[in-house]
Formats: sequence, structure tokens, C-alpha cells
Amino acid sequence: MRFLFIIVFLSVFSATVRADLTIFACEPEWASLSEELGGDKVSVFSATTGLQDPHYIQARPSLIAKARRADLLVCTGAELESGWLPLLQAKAGNSVIQTGASGYFMASNYVRLIDIPTSLDRSQGHIHAAGNPHIQTSPLNIMKVAQALSQRMQEIDRVNAVFYQQRFDDFNQRWQAAIDKWQQQAAPLKGVNVVVQHNSWGYLFDWLGLKKVAVLEAKPGVPPTVSDLNNTLNQLKTTPATMVIHAAYQPSKASDWLVDKTAITSVTLPFTIGGNEQSKDLFSLFDNTIQRLLDAAKQ
Ligand SMILES: [Zn+2]
Repeated sequence: MRFLFIIVFLSVFSATVRADLTIFACEPEWASLSEELGGDKVSVFSATTGLQDPHYIQARPSLIAKARRADLLVCTGAELESGWLPLLQAKAGNSVIQTGASGYFMASNYVRLIDIPTSLDRSQGHIHAAGNPHIQTSPLNIMKVAQALSQRMQEIDRVNAVFYQQRFDDFNQRWQAAIDKWQQQAAPLKGVNVVVQHNSWGYLFDWLGLKKVAVLEAKPGVPPTVSDLNNTLNQLKTTPATMVIHAAYQPSKASDWLVDKTAITSVTLPFTIGGNEQSKDLFSLFDNTIQRLLDAAKQ
């Protein structure tokens, strides 16, 4: 009887002090997804903005302070954050967000990674050693991550489990409807040849049927040399492309060079939430991405 009392007391106590989840997201897309799934039961912080290069972030003291108080770390994984997240985890001294703990959630564990290199020379600065980490460029991946993330939120904040499940069901319905709409809108993009500056868009292209004919960065994360650019130029003589794509956070220098030499159209895509003014949440991110691609394909 006394044991039962203690259990009841503990659960009431934990319900009062920890009704909410504090979430530390590494990138804006996971912050936004956490908000979609957690509503007012979660307090969410994003370590980066849509105009920062997610490959190269510093583990600043302000980020460490945020990580110290987090119940749940939601990041991409697949080595995208390998330059700063391990240091952040070590300095935060927060046991629940350590690798493998309940508050450690890596989105890329729940999707099938593409572009996994068959041979690898890390000395040359390969930053996609585990495969392409830019999984947020496909809404099909977002769906898979949403399912797993909701599950995790329900596990670590049981008091609000029913609420999280309802939020997920609602999101799932709206997201599926949006995917149908985007697929219809994007039909003219199928089979369109494109050049990319950084290998960011593989999941988006697989989803919509765009064809990547060249990558300006010969090695992911390493700015292209003049000879890399000339190689691309020669390649485009045999396989012309309609547009060259770069993310809002990247300097457009390499794309501009190509625009100068060819009749190609340059497109800046938001890449994530906050990449431009229109991309305010996950829904408007894809609305805007598809609109920009369609506009460029028409030119
Ligand atoms: Zn990358």
C-alpha cells in the first residue's frame, strides 16, 4: 500500500514539475517538426538558422547552456553534426542527451540513406562519409522521422503521450494531403536535368524525378576549383541542364560562374525553414521549394 502511494505521489509530482519537454534541435527543420508534434507541451530551441551552413557549426557556450537543460536532442545524424555535436554533448554534462540515451534522437536513423560512398578518402574533406545527410529535402523522409519522433516523445513524456499521438495523427493527415498536392504541382519537373552546387538535393530529386547531371563541388564541402568547373562545363555540352541549384546558406559564386558561361538558370532554394522569408514552417518550405523549381523550369 505504501509502495502504491509512493508511485502515485511520484507520478503526480513528475506531472507537475515536468509536464513539458525541452527540445534542443540541431537544425530548423527538426525544431519545426518538434513544434508540429509537441504543440504547447514542448519548448523548442534550434541550434542553427536556415542561413547557416549546418556542416560547420561551433559548439558555442550559449549552445552548451541550452543542451544542458534539454530533455531531448533532435538532430540529423549521419555525421552532419560530427564536427560539433560530440563536443557539445561532452560539455553539456547532461546524461539524458548522450549517445544512445532516451533523449538522443537522430533523424537519419529512420530513413534510408542514399549516396553512401563506396570508397572514401577522409583526408580530402569528405563530409558525406556516412551517406547523404540532407534528408529534410524530401517530405517522405519527414513523414518517417515524424512517426519515430512522436513515438520517442511519447516514451519520454508519458504524461502527455495521448496528446502527442493526437498531434501526430493530425500532422500525418495534413502532411499526406500536402504531399499529394506537391506531387501534382511538381509533375512538370519530372525528367528535368539539373546541376547542383553541393550534393544537397538527392532525396528531393528522387521524390520528384529531377535528374542531377552534375555537381559543382567535386568533393562535398570543398569549393570547386577552376578545373572542376571546366569539367562540369564540358559535361554540360553533351548533357545540357535547365538549372543550377544552390542552397540559401551557400555563396552563389560557383553557380554564378556557370550562369556566365552557359544559358543555365540559377535557383536559390531555401533548403530549410528560414532559408528565405516565405519558408516559415515545413509546409511553406515545400510550397516555396516547388514554386521556385517550377519558375526556373519555365525560363
Ligand atoms: Zn552536405
